[in-house]
Amino acid sequence: MSRIELADRVKNLPPYPFAALDAAKAKAKAEGKDIISLGIGDPDLPTPGFIVDELKKAAADPATHQYPDYTGRLDYRQVCADFMKRRFGVEFDGASEILALIGSKEGIAHIPLAYINPGDFALCPNPGYPVYDVATQFAGGQVKYFTLDEDRKFLPDLGGIPAEWAQRAKLMFLNYPNNPTGAVATVETLQPVVDFCRERNILLVYDNAYSELAFDGYKPISIFQVPGAKEIAIEMHSLSKSFNMTGWRIAWAAGNADYIAGLGKIKTNVDSGAFDAIQLAAMEALRRNEDPIVTQNYATYGARRAACEKKLTEMGISFLKSPATFYVWCKVPTDEKSAAFCQRILSNTGVVVTPGTAFGSLGEGYFRIALTVPERRMIEALDRIAGQLG
Ligand SMILES: *Cc1c(COP(=O)(O)O)cnc(C)c1O
Repeated sequence: MSRIELADRVKNLPPYPFAALDAAKAKAKAEGKDIISLGIGDPDLPTPGFIVDELKKAAADPATHQYPDYTGRLDYRQVCADFMKRRFGVEFDGASEILALIGSKEGIAHIPLAYINPGDFALCPNPGYPVYDVATQFAGGQVKYFTLDEDRKFLPDLGGIPAEWAQRAKLMFLNYPNNPTGAVATVETLQPVVDFCRERNILLVYDNAYSELAFDGYKPISIFQVPGAKEIAIEMHSLSKSFNMTGWRIAWAAGNADYIAGLGKIKTNVDSGAFDAIQLAAMEALRRNEDPIVTQNYATYGARRAACEKKLTEMGISFLKSPATFYVWCKVPTDEKSAAFCQRILSNTGVVVTPGTAFGSLGEGYFRIALTVPERRMIEALDRIAGQLG
């Protein structure tokens, strides 16, 4: 029993979407079922050894043991800038236009505190990564959803955004290659979004967490390849998915010096920077992003995706074909709601997949598969699902 009431911002959080699913998982486990989780987007493959070696070396040096610089090491920021130049052909000044983050989720969660006043609107994708919504609410802002739907290949429906929302919006969140749908964007498809934000003075927060996780020759873009983007965009990059480093908590934000300073002001007051040794290891990762050990990881996810897509086609389940991310966005093949379908699959087979509604109301009718188990296990999981389709 607690005497102290939670703050409204916590009490008002939407109900946890996985409660029923968690209960079904616990029950399946208790019954001794062999659980295969295609639920969480957390790489099962290890961080490449050369990155781990660099951390060991760096951690042994006492110079890394004190408080790090708030904004990140200058050499780390320079390596991030070099990477962006090499990878996307975009120029950034490491000293003023790059900020080290403790994971990109940290940057996403903090940016509304820098730019949202109570009552301001933030435009968030539906379906989308739930952190955009919650971070907006924590800052006292109001979430207004724009639609990502199949007809538009899960690209934003700008025409569907009411004029008043656009007028009052301060931020817009966007993420391609996309979680949960796997959709990808091009310079041509993003130009109207950049123009929309420029015309209305909206800060476009471009979440590029999957920029490297692509296959078959496809190379995702940076928002800064779109003309005019630098005036109104900040981009979040992360080593988590690119180098199987989710546990390390290292990322960066890139943007013009004003937006970087704005986000930096929040960060200097709430955290003390990323561990220097992790920044040194991350520098090695970024310098060696074309090392065969790294590119083999992408090929592995690509092979799993190909096998998954083949199997889904045999099963008569429709899905979005994608050249990037480790997610497959599938149509629920029965007349059940997403949550009921996923719960039934889990109870009967021990296979965990995520209901589309975990990402917003427009995820109804879909479920998400994460390709984060070995291929043989994934096929086994899909066979079990096939057995439930009758
Ligand atoms: C995984 C993920 C992130 C966060 O990654 P970090 O580990 O915090 O860098 C951000 N956005 C999306 C869409 C993600 O899927």
